[in-house]
Parts: sequence; C-alpha cells; structure tokens
Amino acid sequence: MWDQFKRLVGGVVSGFKTFIGIVAESTKTVKRQVDDFIRESEEAYRKWTEKYSEKDVKNAKKTRLDQLHQINKEIIELDKKFNQDGSLNEKDQIRLDELTKARINLRKKVDNATEYEAVHDRHKNPEKYKYKKVDDANPKELIRLGGRAMAGKPCPRCNLPMALRWKTGIVNPSIDDIFWGCSGFFTKDKKTNKSLCSNTERLSIHDRQIFANFNRPLSHLSSEELTKLILGEENIIKKQLDYTVNQVTSDYLCPEHSVQMQLKFKNNPDNIFDLCYLKCSIPTCNQKVKIKTPDQLDAIYESYLGKSIFE
Ligand SMILES: [Zn+2]
Ligand SMILES: [Zn+2]
Repeated sequence: MWDQFKRLVGGVVSGFKTFIGIVAESTKTVKRQVDDFIRESEEAYRKWTEKYSEKDVKNAKKTRLDQLHQINKEIIELDKKFNQDGSLNEKDQIRLDELTKARINLRKKVDNATEYEAVHDRHKNPEKYKYKKVDDANPKELIRLGGRAMAGKPCPRCNLPMALRWKTGIVNPSIDDIFWGCSGFFTKDKKTNKSLCSNTERLSIHDRQIFANFNRPLSHLSSEELTKLILGEENIIKKQLDYTVNQVTSDYLCPEHSVQMQLKFKNNPDNIFDLCYLKCSIPTCNQKVKIKTPDQLDAIYESYLGKSIFE
C-alpha cells in the first residue's frame, strides 16, 4: 500500500497541524485560494480513506519508524567499520548505499503519514482551522514550528529536510529573522569535519500564508505576553514536562536519521526557556532542536501532553 503513498497537499509545506504556503496564484483572491486548498485536500483525503483507515496509517507509520531504527543500527555499524579501517570494502559500500536510499524512502513515507494526520485533523475539526497571514511583528505560528524538520521542504542542494530557524540569541524573532535552514548544517562531514550543507533560503511571501488549527486558548497573545504567563507558572509547567523527559515524539524526527527525537532537560538552566531541547535518540547524533521561545515550548507541551499549556 505504501508504494502508492503520495503527498496529499502538493506544493504546501506541512508540520504539526499547520500548512504553510497556501497561495499559488496571485490572480486569485485569498478566499478562493483557501477554498481551493480545502477542496483539494478534502478530495485527496477522500480518495485516501477509500483505501486505508486511520488505523492502517497509524500502524504503517509505526512499522516504518521501527524499520528506520533497524536501518540506522546497521548504518552505525558500517560507520564504525569505516572509522576503524578508514574505508569500506566494496560489499559494505554497496550495502551502505542501499541502506541510505532506503532511509530516504522510508522518511518520505513517514512524512506522508504525518501529512495525512494533519489533513485528517482538519477534516474532523473544520471549524478549528483558519487561514491567516502571519503577523510580521509577531510571527508566532512560524516560531512555533521552529527547528522542526518539515515535510514537503527538502533542501534543493542535499535533499535533507529544511526547518524554520533564526540566529541563536534572538529571543523573540520577527519575520525578518526567520529563514529556512538546511538540517545538514548540524551534521559534520566525516572527512572534512565541516557542515554537510549550509544552504539557507529566505522566507517567501507564500510562507507567510498559513492555514492552521488556532484552537489554542492563548493563541491570540503576543510572544511577550505568553512569556510572562509561562514564567508565572514555571514550576507547574516544568513538573508536567518532567514526566516526559527522555520520551520520544514523532512530531519531531531527526532530519538525518529520521528517528524520533527525545525530550531532554539541560542542567542548571536560567529559566524554563533555557531548559528543554530535543535530541536525536541515536546517542552519537548531533541533531538538536533548542526550545527557547514560548511558542515552541507550547508546541512541545502539546506534542507530549496532548494539549496546549494553558488548556
Ligand atoms: Zn542541504
Ligand atoms: Zn540523528
């Protein structure tokens, strides 16, 4: 069944109940563009559910993630061999190439299942999804997705997924601070020890057009207002998140290994915005997502606890 797995919403980047880039043609009104998007995604969803149930997709996603674990184990063994001997024999090299290709294919399938979940959620809760042009001064919805390797946004240079990012140290990014960064940036090339890829892209006008589930109690607040509220309840929120430390989430996959990332707490953090990060569950991997903003923290909370912080 998975060979027929195609992206449901072509041309749109999706992540965690958010679709980015609804606008395709400048001649259409926003309302028509949104109507078209809904119609097309509903149509794709209908075709999809004629063949598969929600349970099928859930199980298949789980199976694919398990397979990814196995593939990575084998790749890591081959990497060790390479490190010991300085090269691989022909047979091992062929196997490594096969495994690397299989990993890319599996990742696509997992991403498609994630996209299905987002379209499914929209289908079930149509009243909660709204079109919005991201507020340039307070681009919360994009910040919320920060660091997450996004389905439908492969790097044109190396094909690894890209993520929305901003420079370290910026606490409340404005729209001009946000860019697409290739996740290859955080992986070092074994031979040169340089970043595998440092491709970046500016946000386009389309990236500011989103369609998302805004059914969060405090989604109307600015990032500053949300910061104050979270700091006021810091200890309670910390305690809730504490239960989930070391657990994995399939909302954030390692862009390199495509395995689920794990929630970690930093030792001696300044405050709750310096506390959490996600790390690839493969110990030797450097891929991390730092959680520094209130909107990302809320997204993490929702991933792990199934609801928004103040819900
Ligand atoms: Zn790249
Ligand atoms: Zn990894």
